[in-house]
Amino acid sequence: MKIYQEFGVTPIINASGAVTRLGGAPMPDEVLTAFNEAARASVPLEQLQAAASKAIAEATGTEAGLVTAGAASALTLGAAAILTGYDLSKMERLPHCDDFPNEFVIAREQRSGYDHAVRAAGARLVEVGFNEIVANAGVRRTEAWEYEAAFGPNTAGVLYVYSSNSRPPLEELVNVAHRHELPVLVDAAGELPPRNNLKSIAAMGADLVAFSGGKAIRGPQSTGMLCGRRDLIGPAAVQLLDMDDHPELWQPPSEFIDKTKLGGIPRHGIGRGFKVSKEEIIALLVALRLFTSGAYDKESNRARNRLERIVKKLNGCPAQCRIFDKGDGESLPLLEIAIDESAVGRTAMEICGNLRRGNPPIYVSHGALREGKLRVNPLHLDDDSTDILAERILHELCG
Ligand SMILES: *Cc1c(COP(=O)(O)O)cnc(C)c1O
Repeated sequence: MKIYQEFGVTPIINASGAVTRLGGAPMPDEVLTAFNEAARASVPLEQLQAAASKAIAEATGTEAGLVTAGAASALTLGAAAILTGYDLSKMERLPHCDDFPNEFVIAREQRSGYDHAVRAAGARLVEVGFNEIVANAGVRRTEAWEYEAAFGPNTAGVLYVYSSNSRPPLEELVNVAHRHELPVLVDAAGELPPRNNLKSIAAMGADLVAFSGGKAIRGPQSTGMLCGRRDLIGPAAVQLLDMDDHPELWQPPSEFIDKTKLGGIPRHGIGRGFKVSKEEIIALLVALRLFTSGAYDKESNRARNRLERIVKKLNGCPAQCRIFDKGDGESLPLLEIAIDESAVGRTAMEICGNLRRGNPPIYVSHGALREGKLRVNPLHLDDDSTDILAERILHELCG
């Protein structure tokens, strides 16, 4: 891997998985080959996105889809589409939308830094419910009536962050929202696997769903997907695509963008800065095909063997190793190393820092450091990097 060194950057051992700040998931050879091949020809992007729409619709059981610059960009474009529909004048005004409905209702407990992507379209978030469990001040989660109580003339839609533990259940929320003719935009960026979520979330009635392309799907890190209602994917697409064409000549595929609903062709939209290249679109579609076919499932056993090698190496150290395996046949196992910090004489935070500063730098998962735990995600590990990682952690724990 000399290319990074040529530019003075040292590659790391990534034991954190498909995280954005370390460059995402490893792209399979088939995806990289497709990327290269796609780079050697030119295609009209609205035709390529229309083809992607069909492939994504098929994979998700929805009407239409769009390849976006990550799930975050899918959220911005999804929010923009809900705010404007096919209205040219509204598209032109985004992110300023004070004179039309612009509020998205969201559960307070579902707020995160990622919702900046929805606010970036111009939407204003209206919080409902409380965070009583985290505050240790109650036992209840957000309830559907609380959304309904917040709906008013300025409501544009609902933003919902999906996980198997999200409350209220998505179907219940969809019922309430649809009773008021409000669309539900779902952030499901990291909710794969299980691959069944590609279809099940939309099947619960979500109007638009955002997924990352560079996490479990293993497409380019800079890709994502928006899927759902055709009459919303169209407005999302025109606010993403480059619009510098003559009205007489611009012929987007009609099942993708309904030109008859536009009173002209818009200028570049709010998503013009989130463009996706032809190579990225093709690579994402090939990765999606691999992911949906279960091509990655067979890696679980090899990953488990590697984690077991690390556990064996650390045998006798002042730490408890545990391998977590969902056993769903799709998810990779994870290793958790709970450190006896007083016996070692260092905190997990310090050890994590030492691993990052060593040569080669090693980045373990940092989600439970304050509980004294290092986590190892095997997605990027091969046999060599596993041995280096095990040796270095052994050195940190046992000197
Ligand atoms: C990863 C993530 C995102 C952002 O996804 P990108 O594909 O990196 O843009 C948004 N929301 C949640 C909940 C995520 O986990």
